[in-house]
Order: sequence, then structure tokens, then C-alpha cells
Amino acid sequence: MLIGSIEAGGTKFVCAVGDEEYRIKDEIVLPTTMPEETLTKVIDYFKGYKLDSLSIASFGPIEIRKTAANYGCITTTPKAGWQNVNIVSILQTALDIPIFFTTDVNGAAYGEYIASKLSETPVSSLVYYTIGTGVGGGAILEGKIVGSLGHSEMGHVFVKRHPDDIEFQGICPYHNDCLEGLVSGPTFEARLSQKGASVSLENHVWDIMSYYVAQAAMQTTLILRPEKIVFGGGVTSEPFLKKVRKDLNAMLNGYVEMPNLDKYITMPMFANNKSATIGNFALGKKLIKSNK
Ligand code: ADP
Ligand code: ZN
Repeated sequence: MLIGSIEAGGTKFVCAVGDEEYRIKDEIVLPTTMPEETLTKVIDYFKGYKLDSLSIASFGPIEIRKTAANYGCITTTPKAGWQNVNIVSILQTALDIPIFFTTDVNGAAYGEYIASKLSETPVSSLVYYTIGTGVGGGAILEGKIVGSLGHSEMGHVFVKRHPDDIEFQGICPYHNDCLEGLVSGPTFEARLSQKGASVSLENHVWDIMSYYVAQAAMQTTLILRPEKIVFGGGVTSEPFLKKVRKDLNAMLNGYVEMPNLDKYITMPMFANNKSATIGNFALGKKLIKSNK
């Protein structure tokens, strides 16, 4: 069995070919330029293999309802040229194979779920957040991706403002100070005029960041009661998550019984965003089985 994986991001498309054991056979990284140029390269790459299915984990928002007229589209993205591009139909026409379509974070969440199943600490539910150029989250409950009317948009929830962060307006073009507007990577440039990577962990801004991310973890905990919350993306690091666990513990204040927070709030099992690739292989495999 050969399964194709696309992790479609705003800066790059990571395309991979794998097998039913989730082993990566080959991989290529293509820059996200204009849709026609990028997708032509994607198609050329996958035409070199005899794929049984393809799974796409894409930046969004995207239309994932099969009943929608624009199923398979990237919809209202601010990414120039990519609005209303029907990535699924373009690839379907060119490759003529079954395609699974979901968000980047749902794909990553599914990959972490599958990886946990193969580990000594399997879980049947988890939530995956990315804190990068944007913020997004995807949930797996009892092995199923959550979302009916569309996919989750966990990055755009509102959080209570930190008392030392009242002046900052937030940078979400839709909601200003939603979670993404307060903690995405570009907020470092907006608050401090410097890149996040160069801001020392001693800087108070990290306490402010942690206060918001811990609230997201608290709400996720209270609403879904998952077994685990994974944080990926460029902004996340183990020292930062240490702060988040401490803040979360204080916010929960003993209200609900919690597992060991070191195991509950974690970095992804796979570095460099490989979770989405593994998730894609598993979702592509599931698609082949369900079509049989
Ligand atoms: P994307 O979300 O575009 O797929 P990433 O998850 O790598 O990509 O996130 C990129 C964002 O993370 C950028 O805004 C970048 O400035 C920020 N970033 C990268 N490294 C760090 C770091 N060490 N600390 C804080 N922010 C960082
Ligand atoms: Zn928002």
C-alpha cells in the first residue's frame, strides 16, 4: 500500500509517500508560491508513484463538508492567490485516487493519536494546538476528528487579558485580541519589534503568553476532558510549556482531577511537524479500507 501525504502550509508544502506502517519512503518540500505553480509540482511529484490514496492536511480555513458545493476548497485565507482554490478537485482530476481532506492541526492531532496508540501510553482522545504564524487546534475524541458544521477553530477563542497586557490591541484581522491575536508568532514583532526566537525566556512577555495559552488549555480541559493536549509550532518549547503547566495548575485550582501535567501538556512526539505526515498516512489508509 502506498499513501501520499501533503502538509499544506502557507510557506511550504511538505509532500511525502509512505506505507501502511507509516514509514516515510520519500519526501519533498516545495515552496508555497501561486496555486498553479505549486500544485503542478505536487502533481508531478506524486505521478512518480502508484498511490492508493492521498491525504491532505491543509492550512485553512477549508471546506471539509462533503455535501458543500465548494468541498475541497481553501476558503477565506488571507494567503494571496489561494482564496477559493479547490485543492482536492485539482488533485483528484490529475491523480484519480481517493483523497482525504482535513486541516493541518487535525492531521497533526491524528498523527499524535496514532503515535500514542503505538507507544506505551496510548490515548483515545487528545487535542493538538499549533502556535506558529497562526494558532489552530484540532481534537480527536474516541479516535474521531471533532467538527460537524466545519472544522474546529480553536485558535480564535477569547481569553481573559493579562493585567500587564491591556494596551496591546492584538493582531487577529477578524477579532483583534482572540488567542491567535495575542500569542501567534508575529505578536512578538507587534509587541516588541523583534522576532520571537530572539526574545529571552526571562522576558515578561513569556509570562503573558503563558497566561493565555494556559487559559486555552484550561478551556480545552473543561470542555472536552481529553487525555492529553499537545502543543506544536515555532513558538512552543519545553521551557515555555513548563510555565504553561504551572499557570494551568493555578487556574484549575484543584477543581477537576488531573493527570500528571508533565504527561498531559506535551510537545509533539514527532519534531519538525512530522505528526501531520504520520496522521495523513493513517487517514489515507483508513480511507482505502472504508472504500473497500
Ligand atoms: P507556520 O505556523 O508558518 O507553519 P511555525 O510553526 O514554524 O510555522 O511558526 C512560525 C512562527 O513562529 C513565526 O512567527 C516565528 O517568528 C515564530 N518563532 C519561531 N521560532 C520561535 C521561537 N524560538 N520563539 C518564539 N517564536 C518563534
Ligand atoms: Zn481571531
